[in-house]
Amino acid sequence: MQYKTDDGTPPPASSYYCIVGFYAIGVLIATCVFDLFFYVEYLHDLRTQPLNGEYDYIIVGSGTAGSWIATRIPSDNVLILEAGPNRNGLMDVPLFLPLLQGTNYDWHYQTEPQTQSCWAMNENRSRWPMGKVVGGTHMLNNMIHFKADRKDFSNWFETNAMLDRFMEFFEHDLWSNVERGFTTELGHVFIDAAKSLGFTEDEFFHPFVTTRHGRRWTTAHEYGTVHRPGHERMTNILVERVIVHAGIAQSVLVSRAGQRFRINARNGIILAAGTIGSAKLLLHSGIGPQSQLGQLGIETIINLPQVGKNLQDHISTGSELVLIRNPLNLHPVDIVHPKNVFHYFTGNNRESSLSFGGCEAVGFVSFGGNYTSDLQFMVLPAGLSSDGGVHLRKILNIKDSVWHDYYEPLLRMGQSVVTILPILLHPKSRGEITLRSSHVRDAPVINPNYLTSYEDVNVLIKGIRLLQKITQQPPARKLGLEFNPKPFPGCTMQPFDSDAYWECYVRSVTHTIYHPVGTCRMGSTGADSVVSSSDLRVHGVQNLFVADASVMPGLPSGNPNSVAMAIAEYFVRSNFPPSSVMPEK
Ligand SMILES: Cc1cc2nc3c(=O)[nH]c(=O)nc-3n(C[C@H](O)[C@H](O)[C@H](O)COP(=O)(O)OP(=O)(O)OC[C@H]3O[C@@H](n4cnc5c(N)ncnc54)[C@H](O)[C@@H]3O)c2cc1C
Repeated sequence: MQYKTDDGTPPPASSYYCIVGFYAIGVLIATCVFDLFFYVEYLHDLRTQPLNGEYDYIIVGSGTAGSWIATRIPSDNVLILEAGPNRNGLMDVPLFLPLLQGTNYDWHYQTEPQTQSCWAMNENRSRWPMGKVVGGTHMLNNMIHFKADRKDFSNWFETNAMLDRFMEFFEHDLWSNVERGFTTELGHVFIDAAKSLGFTEDEFFHPFVTTRHGRRWTTAHEYGTVHRPGHERMTNILVERVIVHAGIAQSVLVSRAGQRFRINARNGIILAAGTIGSAKLLLHSGIGPQSQLGQLGIETIINLPQVGKNLQDHISTGSELVLIRNPLNLHPVDIVHPKNVFHYFTGNNRESSLSFGGCEAVGFVSFGGNYTSDLQFMVLPAGLSSDGGVHLRKILNIKDSVWHDYYEPLLRMGQSVVTILPILLHPKSRGEITLRSSHVRDAPVINPNYLTSYEDVNVLIKGIRLLQKITQQPPARKLGLEFNPKPFPGCTMQPFDSDAYWECYVRSVTHTIYHPVGTCRMGSTGADSVVSSSDLRVHGVQNLFVADASVMPGLPSGNPNSVAMAIAEYFVRSNFPPSSVMPEK
């Protein structure tokens, strides 16, 4: 394929500068507006204090799981503590989701340098955005709602009764705020091409997304619709640690703008601070591996060796791997077109790209393992270079040399690209989170150890090979999909298209899919886990629970947000008698 326009000539340089200019101005305006909202909220929050010094329950974190628990907990004396500010309507526009990364609404985490992966990234580090806002990471995510299957959780729980209780979330469709989203031609073509290889519509389809009338709808939005007198939510407040006395979690130490205070919980403290936040909080509270805590001068309250261990993430590969002959209808001008904006505001979500969360088709593939699927595809109608190199390459941390060598020439030649990501669903590699220091405001050390197991590389190569077949099917050829013929910088010593070449490629282009889990895994004892799978109570501590993505022992065979909701519901059902649980809607 030639990097040229329809009539065979490269586009004029002015079109390159127009794209760069459009996105540079757009990103600048969006960043300023988000900053403005953030500081207004922050100043407002400085004036608020908790009404009481003691509550029945304290929930730490108002993300996917925390807001679900807040909605469903049958108690009218609850305090919710959130490190970030309140959300705003601009954040509900799905297409703006990448713009939130790197703002004050993001924790700005990044991994340690990786030895076996991320070679195309600055210092071999992967950026890990996470929501620091009411709604948590559900406010930053692509909103894909995954309906999980019982088979994937068969070894998560000790008894069938527990598994049954967990599965009730999916089997009773307790989260019904989903819609089919906007699609371009690409999504349909990809699904048709997969079908011509024998895949079914249960395997390749347009996903449901968590929107309402085309706007982002999170568990925090849902919480806003229920009337919970006696509940209080404080924002812009950091929980520093949990105070445990005589084996009972009694209070939390919190801080805001240099002021520290303590709030008590009579019946329970529920950590829903996410895969990084919950593990970090336990470690700062002296609950974790004794030797590690000792080295940092933190007194060990409970020696729980598994805290921070078992870190797992979905990873993928393949930016600018697939080229497309003609651009899809996602041109910058289409985005700001009055008709597009009109459709957004009239709730005509399937017509407006503003309602688009990024992914228009998914595919699930089994290689015969123990899970429902081993590989997932996510299809996005644009590439890393589609915004002129203004924002996406920064949030993905691409090295300048790689950008100039591989990505930028496509942009300058006016070559349209799409992104079809083969995703490793069940990695064998395991990482961990440890504390960098005893200072609570220091980011932890995040080491996912991506691709340290060769089996993980193998699955991704199988994914690329399958993608090659899909793009060779007649529907895909008709649309003009084709693999990028240019060898990736740093991999040119391997014969192009050999397995050795693709190994180098996946170790270079290692993209997180932003699904870390597992650092407070559930299980039966303190030797193998952090919380009990029967009720999500931290081993050895009364009244302390963890209920969020961190308790997953492994990754689901798909996007984990719904599974974090299911865990939150499981927490409520396990700890409160069924008659006292909030009625189903
Ligand atoms: C870019 C991106 C795209 C994604 N796309 C999808 C998708 O399409 N579908 C899907 O299923 N999943 C997706 N995910 C993953 C999904 O959003 C997460 O798995 C899910 O939100 C995790 O929920 P959680 O409740 O465990 O944590 P979170 O939602 O992150 O909630 C944790 C909350 O706790 C707060 N907190 C943390 N520490 C403290 C503290 N010390 N004091 C006070 N508050 C604290 C945080 O600010 C946050 O609000 C995506 C993630 C990202 C980053």
